[in-house]
Amino acid sequence: MLRKLPLWVKIFIGMGIGILVGLAGVWLSFEEIVSDWIKPWGNIFLKLLKLIAVPLIFVSLVKGISSLSDISRLSKIGLKTISIYIVTTIIATTVGLGLVNLIQPGNVFPDDRQEEYRERFLEDISTKQLFADEVKDQSPLYFFEDMIPENIFFAASDNSKMLQIIFFAILFAVAMIMVPEKQVKGVKVFFDGLNDVILKIIDIIMRFAPVGVFALMAGLIVDFSGDAELFSALGMYMITAGAGLFILILIFYPLAMRLFAGIKPRDFLRGIFPAQMVAFSTSSSAATLPVTLKQVINEFKVSGSIANFVLPVGVTINMDGTSCYQAVAAVFIAQVFGMDLSISQQLSIVLLATMASIGSPGVPGGSIVMLIVVLTSVGIPVEGLALILGVDRPIDMLRTVVNITGDSTVASIVAKSEGELGYEG
Ligand code: ASP
Repeated sequence: MLRKLPLWVKIFIGMGIGILVGLAGVWLSFEEIVSDWIKPWGNIFLKLLKLIAVPLIFVSLVKGISSLSDISRLSKIGLKTISIYIVTTIIATTVGLGLVNLIQPGNVFPDDRQEEYRERFLEDISTKQLFADEVKDQSPLYFFEDMIPENIFFAASDNSKMLQIIFFAILFAVAMIMVPEKQVKGVKVFFDGLNDVILKIIDIIMRFAPVGVFALMAGLIVDFSGDAELFSALGMYMITAGAGLFILILIFYPLAMRLFAGIKPRDFLRGIFPAQMVAFSTSSSAATLPVTLKQVINEFKVSGSIANFVLPVGVTINMDGTSCYQAVAAVFIAQVFGMDLSISQQLSIVLLATMASIGSPGVPGGSIVMLIVVLTSVGIPVEGLALILGVDRPIDMLRTVVNITGDSTVASIVAKSEGELGYEG
């Protein structure tokens, strides 16, 4: 009977059992067994997903773009995709900013905890600060400069350099469109076949997903167990960030899907659920990409050429959850330090958080370094990061869910507008 259950149900069950086993491990003191014998299976699942991410991005982008008939179609879809991505990110940041101003979690934060957390996380912050300084000292054009790889193999060996892979894939595919058809026939057939093989690999990996998610969750609960007190002191902050992220998942995206892609909220949430579970347990939208692609193509019937282009690009540049959280975090820290942010400072946060989310890699905690850049640019003390670092992982899990849900929504909307959405309610 278990075999017949749909994947999302199996993953959901895996997650539930993982949470229970993790909690039992903490209460009955068998944490070590969980860490030594269960958690590694989660890491194996995560590594498998990461392993396939770079080849998938490259092959699916080349296949997606080269199947567009001409360059003007590519620039039209590209422009549309990026514009919608920016609009959704700005909306997400505004939701975060609105909530943090409304709830004001920083004003209920206990004063005596400030010093304690600052000491505890100081070392962590200073290493991140070094990276952030590097980013800040760069020219404004650094983003574009960094996008060009000097060596494709170096780029392919680092999962946080996905934008470089995307750049090379786009260049490669554009060249394919420009070369006369009969000369690249063989290359096209090769990439089509390769794409099928990669999708099959994803299929195989996903059979392991319920076990992988189970193991990741059990491991995370055990890792978090020492932090219960931290969670309660930061409860209001977590509730604010969580509320913003849930508004996006449960209201904003389903509404956008209904209005602009004609997809029923129930079908949308059910279709994207397996990818959300994987995003939640891995905290990495890049690692989740294989699953997101599979769900969007199979469930919403977004054409391969649109999904293969919009989703890999979204993984790196569209992070609505990240930008929403950055707005909450920045203003929370300012509130704890008793700073009153002016309207122009708040508007800068919207702009900076939007740009910072574009520059954050889709890996666990990928946006922390960029948050430092946001904080320093608005004049909020960076040490404040110490206050929130301890509870970052659960929020990271949730914001990653938002990130991939946002990508899927935009992929469906772009497909609909291009007449390439096969969904029939
Ligand atoms: N973990 C997030 C992602 O992969 C990035 C972040 O906000 O840290 O999408």
